[in-house]
Amino acid sequence: MSGRRLPAQIVSVLAQVLGPGPVALHEPLFSGREWDYLRECLDSGWVSSVGRFVDRFERDLASYTGARHAIAVVNGTAALHAALLLAGVRPGDEVLVPALTFVGTVNAVSYCGATPHFVDSARETLGIDPAALAEYLHDIAETTADGCRNRQSGARIAAVVPVHVFGHPVALGALLEAAERHKLPVVEDASEAIGSYYEGRHAGTLGLLGMLSFNGNKTITTGGGGAILTDDPELARRAKHITTTAKEPHRWAYLHDEIGFNYRLPNINAALGCAQLEQLDGFLARKRRLAERYGEALAGIDSVTLVREPAGCRSNYWLQAIMLDRALAEERDAVLDATNEQGYMTRPVWRLMHRLPMYSGCPRMPLAVAEDIERRLINLPSGMSLSSG
Ligand SMILES: *Cc1c(COP(=O)(O)O)cnc(C)c1O
Repeated sequence: MSGRRLPAQIVSVLAQVLGPGPVALHEPLFSGREWDYLRECLDSGWVSSVGRFVDRFERDLASYTGARHAIAVVNGTAALHAALLLAGVRPGDEVLVPALTFVGTVNAVSYCGATPHFVDSARETLGIDPAALAEYLHDIAETTADGCRNRQSGARIAAVVPVHVFGHPVALGALLEAAERHKLPVVEDASEAIGSYYEGRHAGTLGLLGMLSFNGNKTITTGGGGAILTDDPELARRAKHITTTAKEPHRWAYLHDEIGFNYRLPNINAALGCAQLEQLDGFLARKRRLAERYGEALAGIDSVTLVREPAGCRSNYWLQAIMLDRALAEERDAVLDATNEQGYMTRPVWRLMHRLPMYSGCPRMPLAVAEDIERRLINLPSGMSLSSG
C-alpha cells in the first residue's frame, strides 16, 4: 500500500476490518435480558426513582468493580459533581483536571463553583502525566497541614481528577503518590473505563471516590446513567443522601436536612443496566478482538500506530484510536474527510478544554503533549457488534 496516500490507506483498513459502511463510531448492543427486565418494570409499575433494579444494579456494580459501595445516579456528570462535593471541593477552589477530556469532567468542577486548572497528558496513557504534574506542583504549590495552595492565584487546590481516556488507565501509582504528597484527594473520572484495570484493580476504585458513566455511547448503557464508587461507608451514605434530595428516611414526613440533588437513577434505567452488566464480559472480549484486528490491518502502515493498553494495565478498549506520525499530522483532516465520506464514522479527539471559550481563562500548565495528541489522534468505529469476540 506504500504507493497510496494515507487517507486511502486508512479507508482500505476500515473496509478490511469492518466490511462495507456505513458504520457508526459507537453503538449500544442489547442482546440479553433487557426486554424481560423492562417489562417487569412496566408490569409492576416500578418505573421511577426507587425499585428493585436500582438496588440490584448498585450491588452488581460494587461486586463487579470491587468497590465497597456503588451509588447509581442519573448520569456521569451528576456522579462527578456529587463526588467532587463529597471530596470537599468548595466555591473558589481550584481542581486539577486534564485538558484532554470530555467537557463533562470540567463542567462538574464548575458546578461546584470551583475553577478547573488544566494539566498535561502522558503519551503512553493519554491521561494525566504524574511526573509532569509532580514537577508542576513543586513549582507552583505550597502544601501545609491545611492542604495545598496555588501560590500564583492564592486559591486552595482541592482535588485532582484523573480521566481514564478511552478506557486506558492513567498511571495511578505515581499519580496517587504525588496527590498524597500534596494532600489532594483523588476523584477518578472512570466514565469510559468500566472493565479496565490498573495493576489488577478496577479503574475508579483507587482514589477516594470514582465514577462511571452509562451514557448511550459507553461500553454498557442505561440510556443515561452513572454511578459513584467508594470504599468509604460514610462517603457512600452521604453520596446516596445528597443525590436523593437529602431526604431523611421517614414513613410519611418530607424532611430534608440540606440542599440535595434529584440525581436518582430511575428503576427502568437501572433495569437496562442490570441486563447490560450481565453481558459485559462478552462486550469486553469483542472490543479486545476488534483492537487486535485493527492492529493486524494497520501493521502494513508504518506511519500510523494503534493506541494500545499501557503496560501493567488492562484496558476495556472502549474507543479505538490511532495516532498519525508527527510528519503526517497535517493529513488528519484529509483522513477524517475520506473515511466519513465512505461511511466510516471517525472523529478527532475532543477540542482541548483550555481552547473552549468558557475555559480559556483558566489556569494551566504547559500542555505540549495534549496539544500534540490533539493534532494526531483519530478515533475509529468501536461498537461491540463490529467483532465477534
Ligand atoms: C461520558 C463522559 C462523562 C459524562 O458522562 P455523562 O453520563 O454523559 O454525563 C464525563 N467524563 C468523560 C471522560 C466521559 O467520557
